[in-house]
Amino acid sequence: MKVLIVDDSLVMRKLITTVLAKAGITDVVHAQNGLEAVSSTQTAQFDLILMDWNMPQMGGIEAVTQIRQSGIKTPIVMVTTEAEKERIIKALQAGATNYLIKPFEPEALISKIQSILGPS
Ligand SMILES: [Mg+2]
Repeated sequence: MKVLIVDDSLVMRKLITTVLAKAGITDVVHAQNGLEAVSSTQTAQFDLILMDWNMPQMGGIEAVTQIRQSGIKTPIVMVTTEAEKERIIKALQAGATNYLIKPFEPEALISKIQSILGPS
């Protein structure tokens, strides 16, 4: 199980990494923005992508759009403070699989992942 963690916040990437490790997921790659995320998906295969919304250079929506345009079907969970319904619909229309609102409990992240990938 290989996971791409995309967030401009190092603290958030570390937090997610810690939560995943507790669930036995240790094969993770970090990207700091959408550009890095898109390029990571061109060079490695992932089972799951956790995508922040607001990032410099390229945000999450644009990254999801480009990843989907390149034909990659990997599940993408938007991890975002953007709780407004319209924006979530926009993310799903862009190709996101699901979303998780920040701040989240560790258990919420794990159960979201399990609901998408099935228990590991
Ligand atoms: Mg951000």
